[in-house]
Amino acid sequence: MALFSASPPLHDPLAPPAGTDAGGTEVKCTTCYMCACRCGIRVHLRQGENGPEVRYIDGNPDHPINKGVICAKGSSGIMKQVSPARLTQPLRRKPGAERGAGEFEPISWEETFALLTERLGRIRATDPKKFALFTGRDQMQALTGLFARQFGTPNYAAHGGFCSVNMAAGMIYTVGGSFWEFGGPDLDQAKLFVMIGTAEDHHSNPLKIALSAFKRRGGRFISINPVRTGYSAIADEWIPIKPGTDGALFMALMHELIKHDRIDRPFLQRFTNAPQLVVLDEGEREGLFAFDPDPTKGPPGDGRHPHNKLVWDSVSGQVMAAYPEGIADGRSPALTGTYTLADGTRVAPAFQLLTQQVAQCTPEWAEKITGISASRIRALAVEIGDTALKQAFELPITWTDAWGKTHPTTIGRPVAFHAMRGLAAHSNGFQTVRSLAVMMSLLGTIDRPGGFRHKAPYPRHIVPNYRAFNDPEQVKPNTPLNAAPLGFPASPEELAIHPDGSPIRIDHAFSWEHPLSAHGLMHNVITNAVKADPYRLDTLMIFMANMAWNSTMNTMAVREMLNRRGEDGEYQIPFLVVCDAFQSEMVAYADLVLPDTTYLERHDVMSMLDRPISEFDGPVDSVRVPVVPPLGQCKPFQEVLIELASRLKFPAFTGAEGARKFKDYPDFVVNFQPQPGIGFLMGWRGENGTEHLRGAPNPKQWEMYEKNGCVFQYHLPETQQYMRNWNQAYLDFAKEKGWRQKNDPVQLAIYSDVLQGFRLAAQGKTTGRQPPEHLRERIDTYFDPLPFWYPPLEAACTDLDVYPLNAITQRPMAMYHSWDSQNAWLRQIHSHNYLHVNPVTALAAGIADGGWCWVESRWGQVRCMVRHSEAVEPGTVWTWNAIGKASGSWQLEAGADESRKGFLLNHLISEELPLTDGDGQAAGTVSNSDPITGQAGWYDVRVRIRPAAPEEPEETFPQVQAMPPAPGVLGRAQKVLTYFAGRKAR
Ligand code: SF4
Repeated sequence: MALFSASPPLHDPLAPPAGTDAGGTEVKCTTCYMCACRCGIRVHLRQGENGPEVRYIDGNPDHPINKGVICAKGSSGIMKQVSPARLTQPLRRKPGAERGAGEFEPISWEETFALLTERLGRIRATDPKKFALFTGRDQMQALTGLFARQFGTPNYAAHGGFCSVNMAAGMIYTVGGSFWEFGGPDLDQAKLFVMIGTAEDHHSNPLKIALSAFKRRGGRFISINPVRTGYSAIADEWIPIKPGTDGALFMALMHELIKHDRIDRPFLQRFTNAPQLVVLDEGEREGLFAFDPDPTKGPPGDGRHPHNKLVWDSVSGQVMAAYPEGIADGRSPALTGTYTLADGTRVAPAFQLLTQQVAQCTPEWAEKITGISASRIRALAVEIGDTALKQAFELPITWTDAWGKTHPTTIGRPVAFHAMRGLAAHSNGFQTVRSLAVMMSLLGTIDRPGGFRHKAPYPRHIVPNYRAFNDPEQVKPNTPLNAAPLGFPASPEELAIHPDGSPIRIDHAFSWEHPLSAHGLMHNVITNAVKADPYRLDTLMIFMANMAWNSTMNTMAVREMLNRRGEDGEYQIPFLVVCDAFQSEMVAYADLVLPDTTYLERHDVMSMLDRPISEFDGPVDSVRVPVVPPLGQCKPFQEVLIELASRLKFPAFTGAEGARKFKDYPDFVVNFQPQPGIGFLMGWRGENGTEHLRGAPNPKQWEMYEKNGCVFQYHLPETQQYMRNWNQAYLDFAKEKGWRQKNDPVQLAIYSDVLQGFRLAAQGKTTGRQPPEHLRERIDTYFDPLPFWYPPLEAACTDLDVYPLNAITQRPMAMYHSWDSQNAWLRQIHSHNYLHVNPVTALAAGIADGGWCWVESRWGQVRCMVRHSEAVEPGTVWTWNAIGKASGSWQLEAGADESRKGFLLNHLISEELPLTDGDGQAAGTVSNSDPITGQAGWYDVRVRIRPAAPEEPEETFPQVQAMPPAPGVLGRAQKVLTYFAGRKAR
């Protein structure tokens, strides 16, 4: 039972407080940040004793994302404001106090800035890579990334590497866009919706709204997931699947779709690289596309890859340029067969190779892996294929493609898919997501009505024209990097490695260990830094990431590492700066604590330079504006970065003669332009605010957003809303507005010559960069240019007879990450979690419903309570993520449910796995991540369960020593309980 729930009932929140009449209520629009969906909200304010106070929050009915809908989290933002866990002043670890003991003394902001300016200035002037900035689930990576680049350190990343980079990279390297922020299912026009591996978090309110309308229209909803919760509860059919096996399902579905010709052949021929000829002969061109060396052939290069590939025209029986000859009227590029070029080179269309790749992936093969019967897989293939092809429809929308052909209508393929972390958070996730994207391409559902649709600024090139920083010589004192720390590598030459192949970055991102780690590997920063692998850091700055608890694998060991000293007696990570709004578990380990504001106290942007809130029909960006003043000395992290960047005189933040360029963060947002006319916000640009998307800075831009509900929406003409990979009018428009560098088409990558380039290097067939010997086989195995399924890496190093169960987590509807356990309202929904186990599995282990059990992996064990649930497949156990808390953190009282009954699965997951070389010999360790992208393998862990002994305490294990309250922490739960009680009790 939550301690708060024992309180007296709250008063009517809508009743005017004593001495205030209802007319005194003021309403301000801003954007929610109780999760990452970014719904528009209206904050109702009253005048309190010390200024405006939040009285009530509801959804903004005029907002395109949520149309007035608000969830439990969103409406509970009011309790975040008065959370007892709020930090209110900068803090410094007390001299002589141990890290982790949570003993601090207050320090002023001026002292804080002086200290940081001196320390960071010294690092920047000597060896900038010794400063690392890693951020959690923030929404301002365009600023944090710029800060790191200007500082001159490659050691920067946000949370994507431990969230869903496999989803982003697997889709972007295949179709040029991804789910959620950059694309999604068109449920307005779909007839069948298949959701795979999605919990109830990403795109939460918008997806609920769309699903509700979809179901009312009679749409059929199939959920494929090991667990039936959240969205799946309203699915017409739940298909349980074993975690980490989704790729096998997609491979079998592709087998069936191809075998029974339920594929969109014209789409594949014109809009994908399926007909392009791949070299079959052994050698350094093996597995790459054959091409016409004449640079004048075909349209200009698509990203880094020219459109000069070849096809076999089955009408004339000749090889010809893929574009425009190969797709001209009267031609029919072959999808199957093998051919010989004039110079004797043997070639085959990429589709032929895909057909061979899926040939053995029968439904019977997949049944053994996924647990889904072969007959159900066959029926699913028929259903998705027939829906795409036989229920196709045409919209009277004319559009012209990149080769000048005008299409009189736009074809709809009404089968839509949606997937998220359930696919991504496995060490086979990249190839799994790629197999989904290729399957969607076979069905022709990419950016078409009823299928997957992009959101601006996507689609990007394949590969996007963002190269990650990769030159160790360019890490220089007092010098910005010559490229952003994060990006999308296209070849081994773009890896961030030294000449000997060792990583440039502390997290080993973009190294041979994880070449396409587009979002970095935050989950390995602490372990690597403590090991000085590849070098020692001086200062690690962490923003909004609870690395001492739920945001890290192997939690207890990482807590020890944060506190570990070397032989010289110094901490292995010499200086830790933590910026957080609340007293999270991580705060105790800080040397310096920067108190952040809440989302209601600051400016923020959801920018086209970063992660906007675009809709299918056009770009949308939005802002947050402060609706109440910051509490105490809290300062937005954005302001901290602007201040530091100015004091450290970063070139982008400094004008002539070293004067600071930007007064503050709002000023920076208005006036910073990465390209002429392009800024953080696209609405109301130009001196008078009359230009949109592109235009000169407008000093009144914030005012305009405030007047317009904090959102700017642009509707593309209908002729530019579909087929945007190839829609010339859209491609021209997107280039003009700065969303793309070129206006040439983006052919879908059924076959990835990018991956093949890495594989050839691993096979020693190229003359360029080669992986170190111990990683050759790893690269050769996983960089298959065609999608394939392999067991998650943890399975290979675990005795599955001993640890037969999969263990996974998901986020609950009512809490986001660890953010909400201090929220008086939301605690009443979840104050602790259970391990959910199928009754068959639990009873076989002798564990009663509500009983205590031990969950053990080869890495650790936890004790927790069990709930029997038939909504989970028998080979899987699961729990809510981040409900369990360390005692005393988040200002929870000692003995609170969160620490006594709540638990984390993180204790069972290792951040590293043993690495073996090609001969099976031990070769050290490697991150427990996808070998292609570095995505954390959160959902790969294998466990066993057994009952706890009757004499054991009814308390979760492990427990940690309670944290003391930080000086100045708001505390005073009583105030929360009496918030609506006329403020009589304090
Ligand atoms: S889904 Fe809920 S918590 Fe998330 S942004 Fe929307 S209202 Fe806020």
